[in-house]
Amino acid sequence: MTLAVSPISDYLKSLHASLQSNDDGEVATYIPELGLADPGSFGICIATVDGQVYTAGDVDRRFTIQSMSKPFIYGYALHTHGMETVLKRVGVEPTGESFNSIVLDQVSNRPYNPMVNAGAIAVTSLVEGETADRRYDEMMRYFGLFAGRDLDIDESVFRSEHATGHRNRAIAYMMLNTGMLDRDPEDVLELYFKQCSISVDCRDMAVMAATLAAQGTNPVTGETVLEPDHVRDVLTVMSTCGMYDYAGQWAFDVGVPAKSGVSGGVIAVIPGQLGIAVYSPPLDRVGNSVRGVEACKKISHDFSLHVFDGRTDVHSVIRREYTAADVPSKRVRSMWERDMLADHGKRLSVMEIQGALFFGSAEKFLRRLTEIAREGRTVIVDFKRAAYADRTAIELICQTALVLSSGDCTIVFTELSGKEELQGLKSALEERVGSSPRVRLVSDTDLAIELFEDEILAETDFSLYDRILPLAEIDIFDGLSKDDLQRLSGVATTFQYAAGDKIISEGDDARVFFVVARGSVSVSVTVDGSRTRRIGSVGQGAPFGEMALLDGGKRSADVIADVPVICYLFSVERLREMSDEAPAILPTILGNLVRILSDRLRLANDEIRALQ
Ligand code: GLN
Repeated sequence: MTLAVSPISDYLKSLHASLQSNDDGEVATYIPELGLADPGSFGICIATVDGQVYTAGDVDRRFTIQSMSKPFIYGYALHTHGMETVLKRVGVEPTGESFNSIVLDQVSNRPYNPMVNAGAIAVTSLVEGETADRRYDEMMRYFGLFAGRDLDIDESVFRSEHATGHRNRAIAYMMLNTGMLDRDPEDVLELYFKQCSISVDCRDMAVMAATLAAQGTNPVTGETVLEPDHVRDVLTVMSTCGMYDYAGQWAFDVGVPAKSGVSGGVIAVIPGQLGIAVYSPPLDRVGNSVRGVEACKKISHDFSLHVFDGRTDVHSVIRREYTAADVPSKRVRSMWERDMLADHGKRLSVMEIQGALFFGSAEKFLRRLTEIAREGRTVIVDFKRAAYADRTAIELICQTALVLSSGDCTIVFTELSGKEELQGLKSALEERVGSSPRVRLVSDTDLAIELFEDEILAETDFSLYDRILPLAEIDIFDGLSKDDLQRLSGVATTFQYAAGDKIISEGDDARVFFVVARGSVSVSVTVDGSRTRRIGSVGQGAPFGEMALLDGGKRSADVIADVPVICYLFSVERLREMSDEAPAILPTILGNLVRILSDRLRLANDEIRALQ
């Protein structure tokens, strides 16, 4: 998909216009067919790691991939044979010489690196298949995965190169001589020339580059083509050797892994962000596209893409910190419970983590976690906004949890479920610290805070919870006379529910309200039409469904018993009918309700303030 209006498209269009008039350089002619290219043809394309493509100019113009095929076939070799085997055939050392130099490493006999012709030919000899046709199919299949479509070769460029590529022949025979090729050189050369003749456009190349930027997963098709470790190896040799003997200056000016080809294409990869492809046939003295180099320099500078621009951020890893005194759980609690928790809430700290977790950011937040935990507090580490954790971060988190759990603090990790990027962290924690009684994994932070509060309350006087709370001790009936309480109990119905029973359903008419006499219930709503999200809970002595007293509308949430529950149920109509004989009942209840609701509003405001 291409965005019609976007600052990035506009930027690319003006960059394109500003470079179009630069007609320096010469179209390559050593492969005669390449000399036919239109020197004015010029396209720029950017593909992001989530598959967005921005274009300017001739992005659909076909050209041959040439040396831009080299990183991908190197990726293929690493993927199919592993690093050790590949390293026996080709090194990783820049040559500082031109792409077609006829030199091999004196000691190892290997070509210096896979980005020059010698190295690339050695790598192409590793394509698997019984026959030449099979090897060709295998190679085309692999390039197709990177581009996200089936690719063809440009037959006339292939024939032209086949007929004139004697220097490459010399290189291949020299490698046969030193034992670096173990197949018929003519066979390998044919496949190599075909590889260089694969016909692509700017968009294909940008998607291929973006696949490397996205750690080997094609952002358009979603297919994984190369494993991240091998992507790293490919990008490394692109950085040091991708621009021939211009590699040093390129690293200085542009500072991203790149590869050019004699047809006039250049690709650049900005890991984790995007792939860039430029096509413009006129080449400079070292064989790089003049406009291609200029466009990449500008884009890198204007978008701050140089790898050493120091963008990696470790400072914002802790989004915020608060205690359970600032932000209690969503559970509706009676007054005395709230008083109790206000004193003890400071013993629980919540740390919200955000962004990518790697060595630097993990080190920073774990240092703070250790500091709080050492004060003997319970710490909830909330990963709701964490993006991913690499293996170093996972290791550091597990080790810290192990060390801390041998002290006297409790660490609770939350919001790790259902997130693919954090699956590795979740399983590692479950496996390595899951059995420790002082480390817990809880699905959501609110629930974890509630569990902590329950423990605090349980420490105080558990027997209070075990009985059925009489009407006289319920906040919403505060101030009623003995007689009125007597009358009220006459109209109360007592209900028992088993754990998991649904007491109220979203959308039902609201004609009655409830008070929890024993146990607790959860309130949950449906989001996105199907998922349910628990938004709070109601404990002993607190009302639910109480909006029936105010508006008599529809129920706005489901209420489900957490444990075996006993509730008092009151019909609103019945209470109204009692107004003649006991005029104080309804106004007193409504007065208490207003107080309870305004209290909740105040708490919500405090919470909003604490979370800002
Ligand atoms: N096919 C070309 C060759 O081997 C590739 C060279 C290049 O793009 N630099 O000569």
